[in-house]
Amino acid sequence: MTTTVTLTGTGVPHPDAARAGAGVLISCDDIHLQVDAGRSTTMRLAQAGVGPHELAALLITHLHSDHVTDVADLVLTRWVQDHLHRTGPLPVVAPDGRAPAFVANLLDAFAYDVEVRVRHVQEGPPEVAGHWFATPDVPKEVWRSSCGRVVAEAVRVRHEPVEDAVAYRVTTPDGVVVVSGDTRVCDEVADLARGADVVVHEACRASALADAVRGTRFETIFSYHADTVALGEMAQRIGIPHLVLTHLIPAPRTPEQEAEYEEDLRRGGYRGRVTVGRDLAVVTVGGPA
Ligand SMILES: [Zn+2]
Ligand SMILES: [Zn+2]
Repeated sequence: MTTTVTLTGTGVPHPDAARAGAGVLISCDDIHLQVDAGRSTTMRLAQAGVGPHELAALLITHLHSDHVTDVADLVLTRWVQDHLHRTGPLPVVAPDGRAPAFVANLLDAFAYDVEVRVRHVQEGPPEVAGHWFATPDVPKEVWRSSCGRVVAEAVRVRHEPVEDAVAYRVTTPDGVVVVSGDTRVCDEVADLARGADVVVHEACRASALADAVRGTRFETIFSYHADTVALGEMAQRIGIPHLVLTHLIPAPRTPEQEAEYEEDLRRGGYRGRVTVGRDLAVVTVGGPA
């Protein structure tokens, strides 16, 4: 078996042609799990050779728009293609607070499209298979593949004032991948990530840019994201072998700017392997990248 991690989007709300919205694809052979679906996720998945019908599940970390704007495209495209693939509703795994209403409202917004397509060619309206769970304060299993070989656990992270923000830990026969979602550096992710092979973590150069953003709205925005120096300290403390940075704030545009992310981690004391994420970068779990 082979497990890979593909970054389908490393960007943030600001549009960037090189960086789609937040998303990570974890593939264990033909079991494909998508974590978050920000802007252009469906297109990035197509570039990675994975269609909406091939997703075993979509895992949502939280409902900030940059993580969910492409949920509609995934759900509706899978539905439109169902006559070809017969894979049925997309399983959506998410905290139960507001996610069920989010999905219902999203489908409601396309009511006219649904009506005319059902009248014309579709056999019925689109649906999702909701796997809603109460946001756990300690890691809890929230999804398991039908074959039982791939398991996803979730835990609450620190992205206040967002309620019900979670990180995921996906275990396959090849190893363990953790995806932080959006969070400050926190003990909850540290506990979830202990023993993981690959940790995909959001990254914000808050320490390095503290003077530049003081008194601006960016200072507030930075406060609920993961400072890269603190992240390096945490990653070293718990022994993460491979740290993959994504959701990069600010988006690096040159190799030198990418290197600054790694320098921040080293300043925090991290000595493990670093990948500063680019869209469609692929990391192999339990083997060479
Ligand atoms: Zn975000
Ligand atoms: Zn967020």
